[in-house]
Amino acid sequence: MPIDPKFQKKRKKAGKEKGTTIWGPLDPPQKLGIRGTYVAVDWDICEGCGTCLEVCPQQVYDWTVTHDHPISEKKPLPAKELSCVQCYTCETECPVQAIRIIFPGPTGWERAVTFLMLSQIIVGIIYGALFGPHLGLPIPFYVGWFISAVALLFFFSSAIYYPRKGEPGKGKGTMDTTVLVDSGTYGIVRHPQILGGILLVSASILISQHWLAAIIGVPVSVSLYMETAKEEKGLMTKFGDDYKRYTQKVPRMNLLLGIARRLRRRNE
Ligand code: SF4
Ligand code: SF4
Repeated sequence: MPIDPKFQKKRKKAGKEKGTTIWGPLDPPQKLGIRGTYVAVDWDICEGCGTCLEVCPQQVYDWTVTHDHPISEKKPLPAKELSCVQCYTCETECPVQAIRIIFPGPTGWERAVTFLMLSQIIVGIIYGALFGPHLGLPIPFYVGWFISAVALLFFFSSAIYYPRKGEPGKGKGTMDTTVLVDSGTYGIVRHPQILGGILLVSASILISQHWLAAIIGVPVSVSLYMETAKEEKGLMTKFGDDYKRYTQKVPRMNLLLGIARRLRRRNE
């Protein structure tokens, strides 16, 4: 029987091992539960074949000795689960389906940046809509509204395209794509969602024309842009040569270049 995909709802946390969450019930050495939250391994199913350690490009797993377990006496502990790039190789190749990979969403600093970004966008746009632009400049104000309309399409790209084109695994979230998405807004820039966020932050500055929107918005935009480099590293590992070809075809964030290349491809 494979690992229970709903283990986080059905099981209770029973402690930690090297910082990795243990999900019970436990009755060692016979019953060892599940190790990990985002890279989860059911130790009661695992046969200790070592395939997951061999195939993982991120060295997420460490061997752990489990004396007297009835199935195998060593198990992979996903000690570096936050380094996982969701390539799903281990999950696919595990002969007994003991592994479940779950997209963790933003963590730590990324959560703080997301919070600041959403606050800046919402407060800035509402301020501009209710009180008008702080500096009273009409052209930037209307340009801001135009940018925000375009930005929304990009901002919701993953919600629009991932479920249809990314083939997320059964019972998984939309971010758990198994296929490289390179069409729609992803055919214009490689990070449409982040570009959408930066455009919305810029629109908020133009609409509100308030110094506070600029002071928060500029570092948030820089931080969002820097996030793309980390994301690309993971995607390169996950999709290999396909992603390399994609980077040669589609620019990272340059919207005008992306549109020009897209039009050229269409006319070829
Ligand atoms: S999904 Fe890929 S990166 Fe993540 S633990 Fe498995 S093999 Fe490693
Ligand atoms: S591939 Fe599966 S069975 Fe083999 S060690 Fe990893 S979790 Fe265990």
